[in-house]
Amino acid sequence: MDEPRFSTIIEPFRIHSVEPLRMTTRAERREYLRAASFNLFQLRAEHVLIDLLTDSGTGAMSRDQWAALQHGDESYAGSPSFYLFADAVRELFPFRHVIPVHQGRAAEKILFTALGGPGKVVPNNTHFDTTRANVEATGALAVDLVVAEGRDPASDHPFKGNMDLAALEQLLTTSGDDVPCVFVTITNNSGGGQPVSLENLRGVRALCDRFGKLLFLDACRFAENAWFIREREEGQGDREVADIVREVASLADGMTMSAKKDPMGNIGGWLAMNDDRLAEECRNMLILTEGFPTYGGLAGRDLEALAQGLKEVVQHDYLRYRIRSTAYLGEALQKRGIPVLSPFGGHAVYLDARALADHLDPLEYPGQSVAVALYEIGGIRSCEIGTVMFGRQPDGSEVPAAMDLVRLAIPRRTYTQSHVDYVIEVCEQVAARAHELPAYRIVEEPRMLRHFTARFEPVTG
Ligand SMILES: *Cc1c(COP(=O)(O)O)cnc(C)c1O
Repeated sequence: MDEPRFSTIIEPFRIHSVEPLRMTTRAERREYLRAASFNLFQLRAEHVLIDLLTDSGTGAMSRDQWAALQHGDESYAGSPSFYLFADAVRELFPFRHVIPVHQGRAAEKILFTALGGPGKVVPNNTHFDTTRANVEATGALAVDLVVAEGRDPASDHPFKGNMDLAALEQLLTTSGDDVPCVFVTITNNSGGGQPVSLENLRGVRALCDRFGKLLFLDACRFAENAWFIREREEGQGDREVADIVREVASLADGMTMSAKKDPMGNIGGWLAMNDDRLAEECRNMLILTEGFPTYGGLAGRDLEALAQGLKEVVQHDYLRYRIRSTAYLGEALQKRGIPVLSPFGGHAVYLDARALADHLDPLEYPGQSVAVALYEIGGIRSCEIGTVMFGRQPDGSEVPAAMDLVRLAIPRRTYTQSHVDYVIEVCEQVAARAHELPAYRIVEEPRMLRHFTARFEPVTG
């Protein structure tokens, strides 16, 4: 019998436990903004209506994950929750050693303490900010080698996260001795959540084999990446996502992971690898910084919830909804003439604030101005990814970032289509008055990672 087809892709769940949203008025939000010095990181979450600051650790757990928490065994050593977790990881990523950590950056810290150091060079398609910081903290150099299309906001290449293989070959030829490992981030978060193809990963693997290098994945959004492979890559359309994930894993020697992304956790992460000596070194470091190797900074109940989350995230109904609902927001904004980056990534839609508020110079922080307006008008919290985040140079001078974007990150399974319809309407109202948005200036800032704590004020008159 023919399967009837419908164009509405619904949330593949119904709501089991509700969390009230907190309504505020525009006048209240203006007051909260002033109190937060116009820095959205300084707002109290209860004053936010729709929180699109990040998709990290902000998703909703399923009924079965909440039930799994009750199975948590809090034994200090050898907890059955650890073995369940490690088996769930290995079901998708069959690496010999699985080492839990409290979140992704802890895995990075441990791995680069072992592999980094002055004079070393670590290539990646694009380093996520904590990855870059952890490489650089050891004195090593972090190099981004994403394909040219990945740097071009107008390109609609299907795999804008791909590694530039020629550039990688060149680097390995000229400074191969200094490269302890090659990294690939799936999906490429800092590049807009753009996927990496299987073909590209095979190419990276071949280069790593030729030059005798370890290949590590920064696999935070592995399931979204595999869904894009299934949808976009020749010959992959009939495969199970879990199967694609296993093939991706088979091309690598190890991984760092934040379980606050695709594994559906509110906290957690892991480090995995095949090399016994490296694993031993990492475990010794783990005991120093995170805890015993069968819990690594997590409670047994967290390990149980992650084991269940890993089963849920590779389900096709979930991924179809996840990728479709992100594109739904992007397409609606595009249709209203609001400039957004395309193709849309898996976890977020990015407004091009520099184009939207084109009366502002990048050093007047158009991204900050648009993000503040989204909050003032509609109570939406987003994240500036532009000159505020990247403009300050180590010598204290300031230059425009490559782009001034505002990221609308979508927490997993948390908001419904009517919430998204509301977000679209708020964006439309902000866009309609974009040319009236004020410039901002920074009145106080720390020396590093200023976007979290800087104090701003609008430039008036
Ligand atoms: C979130 C993220 C990390 C860091 O993980 P945390 O859990 O936030 O420490 C590393 N890499 C990528 C690509 C990420 O998205």
